[in-house]
Amino acid sequence: MQSLRIGSADAAPGAKARGVIAAGRGFDGPVEVPVVVVRGAHEGPTLWIDGATHGDEPEGTVACWMLGQEVDAERLSGSLVLAPLLNVAAAKHSARGDPLDRVNHDLNRIYPGKPNGRGTERLAWAYHEQLSAHADIVLSLHSGGTVGYMSRVIYHNDVPASLDLAKAFGPGWDLIVEPAYSPDRRPATGTIEAVAGARGKPALVIELGGLCESAPPRLRENARHLADGCLNLMRHLKMLPGRVERNGRWKLGREWLVQNNAGGFWLPDPAFGFRKPVAAGTVLARIHDLYGDVVEEVKAPHDGETIGMRTNPYVGLPGEYCVYFAEILGEVTA
Ligand SMILES: [Zn+2]
Repeated sequence: MQSLRIGSADAAPGAKARGVIAAGRGFDGPVEVPVVVVRGAHEGPTLWIDGATHGDEPEGTVACWMLGQEVDAERLSGSLVLAPLLNVAAAKHSARGDPLDRVNHDLNRIYPGKPNGRGTERLAWAYHEQLSAHADIVLSLHSGGTVGYMSRVIYHNDVPASLDLAKAFGPGWDLIVEPAYSPDRRPATGTIEAVAGARGKPALVIELGGLCESAPPRLRENARHLADGCLNLMRHLKMLPGRVERNGRWKLGREWLVQNNAGGFWLPDPAFGFRKPVAAGTVLARIHDLYGDVVEEVKAPHDGETIGMRTNPYVGLPGEYCVYFAEILGEVTA
């Protein structure tokens, strides 16, 4: 077996290495993506996991740190590549994207990036070059960030195997939805999961946490849930020994992004609950003007469940993402 080199991290079989993927030079130094490579002592697939694609989503970062500490290279079959903090420039500002890049704010809409593009496009390019050369399976860990909260949900990609991988994330992960759409119902493009799918590689986007669960104990708990799901998936892939746990029953859904038409002060309905089944047309939240009068009711677009919601009460602009809603298409067991 050979060592595995990702950027400057070179891990021999049965060993771990740290390093960076170089992505250019910024105002105050190099632009780099920190990586941890755990090269198993035995043959197997290369699983690639990243956190903080969006710099205000720390759950994935902490989960990657846990995995980097807990996965024993001597017992591992295959390789685990961790990018705990993918978008450092954004994270420095607790922001979704790099505030200095005024054109390409969302890293997860511009893959595979451009070698001669703007800063975030160059970051995407450098990262994707390494990922596409080595990753057999991609997991991207996300949350609701500084504006919202996402309950447990897994987005699979267009590769059929991704649905089976989503089912292997373990107990509690019982909602699996189709690849993300834009608000006008077009499949989202330029996402890491879409470009991986175009190369025939399964990829999952896994969401948990955000603003209303950002107090340190809850953040750590959510990171633990994410890390445990990754470990269960690694046992499923036979990368790690041990028993695979399964939820046994899953809801399959389709995501809808519900936007507000009016800005204002946002309050969920008193009966609102994440993952609570509701009928189409149920009021989920209301937008109030500055005197407290209701100017808009935000309603469920279909029969289904709210999987994510703005939890920051200030809605500055019309057309912001207010509710991530899963239309439930059916249930499967196994
Ligand atoms: Zn995200």
